[in-house]
Amino acid sequence: MKTMYSKLPNIGTTIFTVMSNLAKEHNAINLSQGFPDYPISPVLVDLVTKAMQDGYNQYAPMTGLPELRNALATKMEKLYQSTINPDSEITITPGGTYAIYTAFTTILQAGDEAIVLEPAYDSYIPNIETNGAKAICIPLRYPDYSVDWELVKASISHKTKAIIINSPHNPTGYIWSKDDMLKLDEITRDTSIYVISDEVYEHITLDGRAHESVLKYPSLFARSFVIYSFGKVFHTTGWKMGYCVAPADLMKEFRKIHQFLSFTCNTPMQVALAQFLTHESEYLSLPAFFERKRNLFLDLLSDLPFTIHQKAQGSYFQLASYEKINHMPDKDFAIWLTKEHGVATIPVSAFNHDGKDDKLIRFCFAKQDETLELACQRLGKLI
Ligand code: GLN
Repeated sequence: MKTMYSKLPNIGTTIFTVMSNLAKEHNAINLSQGFPDYPISPVLVDLVTKAMQDGYNQYAPMTGLPELRNALATKMEKLYQSTINPDSEITITPGGTYAIYTAFTTILQAGDEAIVLEPAYDSYIPNIETNGAKAICIPLRYPDYSVDWELVKASISHKTKAIIINSPHNPTGYIWSKDDMLKLDEITRDTSIYVISDEVYEHITLDGRAHESVLKYPSLFARSFVIYSFGKVFHTTGWKMGYCVAPADLMKEFRKIHQFLSFTCNTPMQVALAQFLTHESEYLSLPAFFERKRNLFLDLLSDLPFTIHQKAQGSYFQLASYEKINHMPDKDFAIWLTKEHGVATIPVSAFNHDGKDDKLIRFCFAKQDETLELACQRLGKLI
């Protein structure tokens, strides 16, 4: 019998699928995988329905609907004072994760190295390895998850082709400062290192913090692929819609890959999103919307035997330690909590290539207030 060759021999099923399936199986409240459980805007539902009824059901242009790219360029100009050419510098993609894979595939060749700061979203390393490149993993500073720039500098070699960054950060909720961006700019300037900036939580910045987009730093943007997600902005994770922004020379190469991966993405949603982007308050209200949810969740959690591991600065995730409950490895703890207490979470070790376990779990608070209340009520049995 021939053994099946594997490009990813050490990779199993993503933790998000594992935990969501386990939650279903045990009828648990799912605070694991990051997705909202409340309805999306009825206006957006009407717009997409109308787009289908109006006949927008065939292929959109490979690079994305011009109206949508134009609306995005306007939005980025307003938010980040950056002038982005909608024709040559934006491509609409089937989700942010897809855009990250496409960016890696655009840049990497076999034998290259790409720097990943851990804990990191679980697709980054497999994306690098699928391209025959090597992930150079650097830990973020425990316990605050800030960047150790000396370590980043020391890990750069002549093989380094890419660095992937993520702010607001999944799973830690850390937000990069202006100083972090300037350091990154300084370190990568005059090198052949490309930056992939995962900014999918750009609008979920809490306590008055600002999002330091790569787009605000022209010299950094000149060697960057910046990744966004409509799923996080309009609560539509199941639509799998996102986009990549990059300077024209980089985008030209990105599109060569994209055209043979998915070619394009669904048309009626692009029509609807282009129109809905004029509703600025939808995304400008997100910091207040999620700050209230985070505060409610922190409040509920304060009565329980979890220890908040640094208040989330951004994203819709909150880390907590369970050291007062038991000393299980985090994966076992997350499974036990799902099965025995009916609440699913994500073990943070899943974001470390070597399974480094700081005994932390990640809660997603992008949920209806009642869901958060019910989950904490169930967790009340732990007292
Ligand atoms: N980004 C989301 C999370 O971190 C979900 C990702 C996924 O399910 N692949 O939970």
